[in-house]
Amino acid sequence: MTFHFQCDLSPALTNAGVSRFLITTIPSTLYIYDEEGTNLTLQAAACCITESLNKLARDGVVIRDRIGEEVCRLRGFVMNFKGDWKYLAQMFNMTKTAQQEEICWKCGATKGTNDPDMCYVNLSPTAPWRAVHGPGWRVRPSFADLASGRICFEDTMIGGDLLHIWHLGVGRDAIGSIVRQLVKERYWPGSNIERRLAFATASLKQWCKHRSMSLTIKRLSKQNLTWGSECFGLVLAPSFVCCLS
Ligand SMILES: [Zn+2]
Repeated sequence: MTFHFQCDLSPALTNAGVSRFLITTIPSTLYIYDEEGTNLTLQAAACCITESLNKLARDGVVIRDRIGEEVCRLRGFVMNFKGDWKYLAQMFNMTKTAQQEEICWKCGATKGTNDPDMCYVNLSPTAPWRAVHGPGWRVRPSFADLASGRICFEDTMIGGDLLHIWHLGVGRDAIGSIVRQLVKERYWPGSNIERRLAFATASLKQWCKHRSMSLTIKRLSKQNLTWGSECFGLVLAPSFVCCLS
């Protein structure tokens, strides 16, 4: 596990090399778990990191000139915890994770393999997963002790980033569902699904060619749109194809 921080005020946010600063790296061989599956090693590390972050927010770091005079005091405040789902699940001791049918730590949304109505891609205002709330975590995570006067820990600080939330997460499911729906609605011409998908593929290839983009999937097919399954669509392709959408 690698912990690093990134300043939201950095002028080079899109350059990981100059905008991310290492806090620590912990090899997974050092992980110790309790019987409920809480990663005690990472929680202990997070406890020390939280203490440092609280000190940074409370006392700050004094910047001095060459003769030792105080020039200013820099303070830092945590705005957001980012990382992939595996990281967030471990750091916040979540009861629901990507490995389970129920996947959201805040509501009852599922992957939808058992009940499509409960699937998180069911965006209906009356979707039944909206009525289910929590619970968030098994035991209080170390990061929840973040407190620096004005800014204290809130679960809205548990965030995601574009890659993990969209590219690896929702994007492929959304695209798969949309393409399936468009084929059903006969958006592309053709007397059967295969022919309509062939039109969709040709249209996609032309679109990419026009923009000098290369495609890793050769064609849209019933197989890579998981057509036969009862659950919502999913385009079986590398996650970065979602960038095209
Ligand atoms: Zn949710």
